Amino acid sequence: MRLKIYIDGKFLPKENAKISVFDHGLLYGDGVFEGIRTYDGLIFKLKEHIDRLYQSAHTIMLAIPMSKNEMIEAIKKTLRENKLKDAYIRLIVTRGVGDLGLDPRKCPKATIIIIADKIKLYPSEFYKKGMEIVTIPTQRTIHEAVNPQIKSLNYLNNILAKVEAINAGVEEAVMLNFEGYVAECTGDNIFIVKKGALLTPPIHIGVLRGITRGAVIDIAHMKEIPVYEEILTRYDLFNADECFLTGTAAEIIPVVKIDGRTIANGKPGKMTLALTSEFHKITRSDGVRF
Ligand code: PMP
Repeated sequence: MRLKIYIDGKFLPKENAKISVFDHGLLYGDGVFEGIRTYDGLIFKLKEHIDRLYQSAHTIMLAIPMSKNEMIEAIKKTLRENKLKDAYIRLIVTRGVGDLGLDPRKCPKATIIIIADKIKLYPSEFYKKGMEIVTIPTQRTIHEAVNPQIKSLNYLNNILAKVEAINAGVEEAVMLNFEGYVAECTGDNIFIVKKGALLTPPIHIGVLRGITRGAVIDIAHMKEIPVYEEILTRYDLFNADECFLTGTAAEIIPVVKIDGRTIANGKPGKMTLALTSEFHKITRSDGVRF
């Protein structure tokens, strides 16, 4: 079936789904976005994604010309229009069409785009055997510059890190903050397990408040696993009992090697696997029907 893309209230076939070259989303990366998953007809953590989108937009003073409820209806309609049950939704709000200058006041109306497509999963090898990652030189932006909590269309900071990961022959990079503390990966949050407890960097050191991160913390609380949002260094990563990444697209991916150091026995850890199996249960039972 031909994919139909939602642009400003209209559904357009993929080939005709185009926006102006004067859109500031393209000219300056001026806009915000979300990536959302559906599992067997249920939208996972929809409210959390919508809230984060509107908070990102509020922070950059971008008025979304639609209420949260209208946005939810537009997402559901896009999923139905494309007859999808297991999908990845990309929700984009750009500053809209303006002139060649930076001035956002020249963009009278935000552009709203909703793409719902089949999810392209990471290779199953990563989940079975775990993945190798490296730390890279590009630092995560400091929150006084562009706060990593804003999920903006300007992902160059993360793309530079991704390029450096690829140069090093791996698929994902750990980004450190300006003080050299572990922040997050290019599109995922990072966790380690140490002595039965779950550790992840606190938001204030400069990371996106990942929705999968939140779901994993909730599962840990449910299972009475201690969770600490703690400052971590590369030393902590190297000497962890387990390590994994979390993200909407990736879900939970075990990490078995970091900067050439094997993590524990080099196999996905027990707690990682237990959290993953609980996460799969929740995604298939807990969500908004469309
Ligand atoms: N960090 C960054 C930089 C990301 O882009 C993402 C994925 N959008 C995440 C973390 C994970 O966030 P979530 O679990 O909400 O997808």
